[in-house]
Amino acid sequence: MQMKMTKLEERAIKLLLKYEDRGILQSELWHKLGVTSREGSRIAIKLEKKGIVKRVKEFANDRWTRRLVPLIKQLSVEPIRGAPCPSCTHENTCGLDKMVTPCTCVLLEEWILGQTDTSGQV
Ligand code: SF4
Repeated sequence: MQMKMTKLEERAIKLLLKYEDRGILQSELWHKLGVTSREGSRIAIKLEKKGIVKRVKEFANDRWTRRLVPLIKQLSVEPIRGAPCPSCTHENTCGLDKMVTPCTCVLLEEWILGQTDTSGQV
């Protein structure tokens, strides 16, 4: 799913991802983004509607505010580093319903078996 984002929303998301475990108070995020609370609240509501953050009510610094908790995670390419597919000549023609298929690919099988550690876990 492709979502249209403003530059400010993208910056907000990058910052939010640094706090993916516990979230961040919205006022802290506005401060880091250099925007007013009005503009920041508008961004937070838009991100919540897109399912990117959860706005959780919280009492902090002697007043009620919102903590923005990311509902998305940063992906790592580490688990697929070294996989044969990105550099394979069949990359664009390989698929489950195609002549060339991952189900019978020796290169893929060898790479997967090479990922297995001595305890037998992938
Ligand atoms: S599964 Fe095998 S044939 Fe298919 S893209 Fe990966 S390496 Fe190439």
